[in-house]
Parts: sequence; structure tokens; C-alpha cells
Amino acid sequence: MARCSVCGAPAVYVNRATGAAYCERHFMEYFSRRVRSTIRRFRLFRSRERIVVAVSGGKDSLTLLHYLVNLSRRAAPGWEVRALLVDEGIRGYREYTVRRFERVAEELGVEYRIVKFRDELGYTLDEIVRLGAERGLPYRPCTYCGVFRRYLMNKAAREMGATVLATGHNLDDIVQTYMMNILGNDWEKVVRLGPVSGPALHPRFVRKVKPLYEVLEKETTIYAILNGFYDGFEECPYARLGERWEIRRVINRLEEQRPGTKYRLLRSLLTAIDILRRAGVATEGEVGTCAICGEPSAHPVCRACLLRIELGILEVGEEKLRSLPKAAREMVLQALRLAEKRRKKSGG
Ligand code: SF4
Ligand code: ZN
Repeated sequence: MARCSVCGAPAVYVNRATGAAYCERHFMEYFSRRVRSTIRRFRLFRSRERIVVAVSGGKDSLTLLHYLVNLSRRAAPGWEVRALLVDEGIRGYREYTVRRFERVAEELGVEYRIVKFRDELGYTLDEIVRLGAERGLPYRPCTYCGVFRRYLMNKAAREMGATVLATGHNLDDIVQTYMMNILGNDWEKVVRLGPVSGPALHPRFVRKVKPLYEVLEKETTIYAILNGFYDGFEECPYARLGERWEIRRVINRLEEQRPGTKYRLLRSLLTAIDILRRAGVATEGEVGTCAICGEPSAHPVCRACLLRIELGILEVGEEKLRSLPKAAREMVLQALRLAEKRRKKSGG
């Protein structure tokens, strides 16, 4: 059995990349050191913040909530921590994670809010996926989920008075997204993969940070187990349909064969962000406003509104259409034309 590199007690975790092993107590210290160093190095929080933690009910976001609530009580009295869960409406999955979230939030004594796709968009994700298939739209479930979740999270966090929104993305998630963006040759997205995401200069945009940026997924699992809120996490039924699934498998295999691959990928990402920023491939800074919903958007009409138009769950009447600025009107008309073409093709 491996022994703790610090005190020699039986280890609960061995970091294969560094060879360091930790007992329960020293694992918690190691974990805390890593997260605090990310917070300091990338200046994630100021001394006074209302931090809203975006929680899915999975191990990563619950770990982040648990850690930040405890850190704020111990060492950061100027922080108010709240939690926000977006319930997409995924049958056979989300019900369980919502229950776990409520239990952990109540145990921690943290205020929280649950926002539902059904209430905000009129449809659950399951219904949206069905609608999309009927209309012949080419998107995977994770695309709808990601776009609408980000949209509602920003809106709800702002309504909760958040000065910053913290998400539970861990190192594994980040390097997977990095790989996906490389494969898509999408360097503008790579620039936005830092621990603090822009665009920032919009009054309705809540700054987003990723405190678990340098923590491996395995480490968040161990944190969740040691703190008693890991009870075998369910998997979203759509996860296997996403591109991420395959990328994750490949990176895990590489890590198995060459420990340290994930750390190296993260370093590569930070270098790439730096080079891209200096080359001017950055979309952070000023951002526009969606002409339809008024939320921050890099384009005249935001992605969430466009998707709703394509799905036929957002009607833009003649009058509204006429009142839109030219670029926004063009985008809406093009989305409608495309949707009509696909609908005909799919026989819907
Ligand atoms: Fe949403 Fe895809 Fe994650 Fe499921 S796996 S919760 S559909 S992003
Ligand atoms: Zn919009």
C-alpha cells in the first residue's frame, strides 16, 4: 500500500504524474493549496465578492461549492457564497442530481436557487432534443444544453446579485475542450479557455471563473468521497452522444500511458492563449447586446435566440422583425430560411 509522502500514513491518493502520495489529511491540504494557488495566480476573486457557484449536482460543482463555502468561512469573510442550479429537464438523471444538490446545499447552510429550462424556455431539454430531431436540425443534445445553460446561468446569476460566477470545470474538462477546439480549428474559443472568461465589458455579463482549473477530475472525486457527498454519480444519458466522450477516452488513455499528459496539455493551452492574445486573436472586451432578448452577445442576435428560432419555440413577428437593426434582421431571416429548408428536407 502506498504511504503518504508527507507523514507516512496510508495514502488515499497517489498523483501518478508527480509520484506524490497523500493520506486523507494531507490530501485535503494539497487540494486546498492547489485551488488557492489558482485563485491567487489568476486573481479570480477580490476581497469582497458575492460568488454564485454554478452547480450541476455532480461531483465537481459540489466539490467547488463545499470548498468555497468552507474557505469563505475560514479565511475570506468578505465573500458571500450562493449556489445556482440549472435544471435542464433530463429524465432519469437530473431528478437525482437536484436532490443531491439540495441535500448538500442545506447541510452547508447556503442560499440557493434552481432555474428550470421548462419555466424559462417553455420546454425541457428532452423536449427540445425531440423538437430538433423532428425539424431536422443538425445539433447534438449537448449543443442545446450548453447554449441554453450558459444563457440562463448568466441571467440568473445576475438576478442573484452575483459579482462573479464560479463554475466547477476541472483540469480534465479544460484540456478536453482545448482538444475539441483544436480539432475544430476554433482559436477564438481557445482564447476564452482561461480560468477567467470574457467577454467582460457588458453591464449584463457576469464575470466567470474556474477555481478547479488546475485540479484533476480524479482529485475532485476524492474530495467528494472524503467529504461524504459522493454516492456514485449518475451519467447524463446524452453524454455518450457528445464529441467530448471520445476525446475524454483518448486523453485518459494517453495519461495512463504517459502520466503527466493532462498537465502538459494544460501548459500548452496557457501558452497558446498567451500567443493568441498577443496575435490579437481575442474576442474579450466590448461585447454587444442581442437585439431580441437584450442579453450580452458577440453577434447581433445571440446563439440562444437563434437556436430558439430554428426550433420554432421563439416567434419573431413581422412588427418585431421590422424594428430590428439590419444585421440582426438578416440573421433572423437566414435562421428562418435555414429552418424551413431543413424542415422540408426532414419531411416535418
Ligand atoms: Fe447537458 Fe450534454 Fe452535459 Fe448532458 S452531457 S448535462 S446534455 S452538456
Ligand atoms: Zn438573445
